[in-house]
Amino acid sequence: MKDPRFKPKAIRSPRGARTTAIDWADGHKGVYPHEVLRGYCPCAGCQGHSGDIKFIAPSDAQQELEDIEMVGGYAVSLKWFDGHASGIYSFKYLRSLCRCSECAAAAGAQPSGS
Ligand SMILES: [Zn+2]
Ligand SMILES: [Zn+2]
Repeated sequence: MKDPRFKPKAIRSPRGARTTAIDWADGHKGVYPHEVLRGYCPCAGCQGHSGDIKFIAPSDAQQELEDIEMVGGYAVSLKWFDGHASGIYSFKYLRSLCRCSECAAAAGAQPSGS
């Protein structure tokens, strides 16, 4: 995958933090609250087989990230402190979960005038 929008340069997830930051190769500074990362875990155990990805509100204890591992140069797998580690997040998927102010504004409600 050569598209710089789907290539992370640096992933920062300080221990104990509740947000992971990803610097993308196109210069975008991604912001990923763990509530979002865990809530949108794409594994079959979380999402079932319905096809539509849905948000499953995680408990407080489910938002502690233990480890991030690269998977085959196209995705990362997230390991959580409660032992859950089956979610494989492709870079493209990760990018769509970004909650930086720019992406949140693009995805959020239309501004109603000024
Ligand atoms: Zn899962
Ligand atoms: Zn963003």
